[in-house]
Amino acid sequence: MIRSKSLTQILKVTRKKSRVLDVEIGRLDDLEKQSKGLREITEMKAKGLKEITEIIEGLRRTQEDSKREDYYEGKYYPSYKYVERIEEDEIVTTEDFKPGMMHSCPDCGSETPVIRYYYQEYDSPEEDIWVTKALAICCDKIYELKKFVRN
Ligand SMILES: [Zn+2]
Repeated sequence: MIRSKSLTQILKVTRKKSRVLDVEIGRLDDLEKQSKGLREITEMKAKGLKEITEIIEGLRRTQEDSKREDYYEGKYYPSYKYVERIEEDEIVTTEDFKPGMMHSCPDCGSETPVIRYYYQEYDSPEEDIWVTKALAICCDKIYELKKFVRN
């Protein structure tokens, strides 16, 4: 026996399927948003770890390069040194490449050495920009404790 279906019945079923698909699409949109958020967090973390690696390798590089006679500190790439103390208008470094001033991490309470970043970030005939920062690293984060920008 052939069952007959009215167009109204078909429409009802179609509408129901369409609603189910709308819910699925909504779920996919949510997933997409979540994965975008996760991607952003992951990218931020990767960037942060790259910056931390640069600082730690930069300390070693600065120590090596500063032995050269033609070394021009901070001119072509950042110089990193341990900080002895932070003054009103100056960040004083230790000259023996040994940690001096320590910073207490707000997350875990560990003490980590304060590091000075020094670099000519901009170079032109009209203007030079030299940036000096006091940084501390802990718990995958970089803390900027002080910053000077000078011409
Ligand atoms: Zn920490």
